[in-house]
Amino acid sequence: MNLAQAYRKLEGAGFRLTPQRDTVLRLLARHADASLSAEDIVRLARDEAEIPVGLATTYRTLELLLELEIVNRVRAADGRARYVLVPEIVEARAQLVCTRCGQVLPVPGHLVADLEARLADAEDFRVTAHEVKFYGVCGACRRD
Ligand SMILES: [Zn+2]
Repeated sequence: MNLAQAYRKLEGAGFRLTPQRDTVLRLLARHADASLSAEDIVRLARDEAEIPVGLATTYRTLELLLELEIVNRVRAADGRARYVLVPEIVEARAQLVCTRCGQVLPVPGHLVADLEARLADAEDFRVTAHEVKFYGVCGACRRD
């Protein structure tokens, strides 16, 4: 997710965007190609002239961001926890595509929600986004 989405999620959950929280989020966004440990964030804040953050504040902030699903925690080979912004959520999209006339129709939302709930039960997998196409022949083409 990008910074604007992270801000919206934080404030939408009733938390203020403090300068320290802003620093942590900006560093995670700026270094999105890496995963950062809490120690990395404290050092980068100093090196990159952001608002300084202490280690305890950084840990508290990361815990909050984890809870709000703004960041993911990953375990590096050295066993140290590292943090990354959660990947950008693609638009939820399930479509029916007619291979004869090319018409594209949306799959009704409740069918997709039902499938996601079944996946959660059967596969122990929580879906956060989807993009699916079903190919076939629409009713009008079949009647032709
Ligand atoms: Zn068709």
